[in-house]
Amino acid sequence: MQDKDSRHRFILEKAQVRGVLVRLDTTWREVLALADYPPNVQQVLGHAMAAMPLLASMIKFTGKLTLQARGSGPVTLLVVQGSADGGQRGLARWKEEPPAGPLEKVFGDATLTIQIESRPGGANQDADVYQGVVGIEGELLQDALAGYFENSEQLPTRLWLVCTKDRAAGFMLQQLPVDDSRKSDREDDWHRVNLLADTIEQDELMEKQTEKLLQQVFAEDDIRVFDPEPLRFECGCSRERTAGLIAGLGHEEAIDILKKEGQIEITCEFCNSKNTFDSIDVEAIFRGDSVQENDNTIH
Ligand SMILES: [Zn+2]
Repeated sequence: MQDKDSRHRFILEKAQVRGVLVRLDTTWREVLALADYPPNVQQVLGHAMAAMPLLASMIKFTGKLTLQARGSGPVTLLVVQGSADGGQRGLARWKEEPPAGPLEKVFGDATLTIQIESRPGGANQDADVYQGVVGIEGELLQDALAGYFENSEQLPTRLWLVCTKDRAAGFMLQQLPVDDSRKSDREDDWHRVNLLADTIEQDELMEKQTEKLLQQVFAEDDIRVFDPEPLRFECGCSRERTAGLIAGLGHEEAIDILKKEGQIEITCEFCNSKNTFDSIDVEAIFRGDSVQENDNTIH
């Protein structure tokens, strides 16, 4: 397969449209390997995973970007989280197999949010957090996300998201912001590139080498393709953060668990790594000692 775990940004110079093409391979398979997802849960999770690097290329942030849906429908939780440098993780929880669409049947009465964290003061400083609400509208996640961009940026935007168990792929087009003087031309151009993009077959979006695909589809345009950016699975959990969860339980409850279980074992839902804390570790947490990184971490 071509262009593994990569994001290609490009500009169609004549049409004044920018685009992004994303392929996720091991990044996606690592997420899939962590749970036995039914096909339609797998689909919505794969779409969200493929959407993350598209969103991350359009939104300015320096911390984390989180796409989350929480609701009462067959899929009760969907979380995909990405960092500005191309790491991402994701999971879904479900109570029954959902239909493939529309979204309101998949999530029920739900909120779909995009949370943007930036750390202007650096990694150790407090984050500025902004949360945008995405309407649960349309057949697929790509429709809801396009609607979000049209509302928040006032720029026509479209997304195409596909996945199999081996790969998730995403494609996005957005009109570049320019002055209004040639607005009618711009609408024609936008309409034209969308018709062309709709001719892309699913297996081409999945498999075809990026430059070849763009040249084939937008043959009339001048295409500027930027260097590909690597993407990867990255959880970001750590023994230190897990210790923070135990601190959040409170001393009494932590001691209760220790009495019952002998130790506290916490498994990260995003990557399955296990952290165990015995009574000495737990006392250290409540004394405020720093917790040794990677000690006792089983991958
Ligand atoms: Zn983890």
